[in-house]
Amino acid sequence: MEKLIIANWKMNLPTGGVVTFAEQFSPAQKKILVVAPPYPFLAQLKGLGFHTAAQDVSSHDKGAFTGEVSAELLAQVGAHYCIVGHSERRQQHHEEHELLSQKIIQLLNRHIKPIFCIGEHGDDHEAKKTNQVLLAQLSALDNFKGKEIIIAYEPVWAVGTGRHATPDHIKTIHHYLKQRLGADTPILYGGSVNPQNAASILGLAEVDGLLIGGASLKADEMVKILLMARP
Ligand code: PEP
Repeated sequence: MEKLIIANWKMNLPTGGVVTFAEQFSPAQKKILVVAPPYPFLAQLKGLGFHTAAQDVSSHDKGAFTGEVSAELLAQVGAHYCIVGHSERRQQHHEEHELLSQKIIQLLNRHIKPIFCIGEHGDDHEAKKTNQVLLAQLSALDNFKGKEIIIAYEPVWAVGTGRHATPDHIKTIHHYLKQRLGADTPILYGGSVNPQNAASILGLAEVDGLLIGGASLKADEMVKILLMARP
């Protein structure tokens, strides 16, 4: 099965600009690459032939919510996916369980696939509490059994730190998650992936794709990773 690669640009753009970035990818590569740019660039990326993901969504339908973007508006600019519960939003905006569930309802109502991020902090990792933390985070999905939700396992200690999880650790955690959620639930790994470590992670049968932050702004690095992602 082809693996799914999500490029999370966060609040950044590629140095050479969006059009130059897009020119580096073949049509076949664009099929497995999903770009999550800042909101104002969603429509442009879609026009350039990419599948797109929003980085967040409002938990509300519409109305007086200055600065927020609804799932309906994301659907209008053709977003296929939306990241929910990224560790940066959990930490910086104190997003938790109830709010995240509301966001998922909004997305599912508009047929946008949620990419639900879970992951343990470094101290939980060291205290061997990873499974416990992940289970608690997954309970936000209790009301969505049978819905198409993609999980991204992103250990917080690995996001943006340059310290990726070992293939052994990833394999063990993904195996555990698949046991809990069902073998058909797609589970991506995210956390300091780059062209040097991507092959060993993508080589794991339990890994259905990658969520990539820093390296995703560099088209040449993404092309290398995409070449490894195709069977
Ligand atoms: C992310 O932002 O989801 C991420 C995994 O970032 P990085 O690849 O930079 O660790």
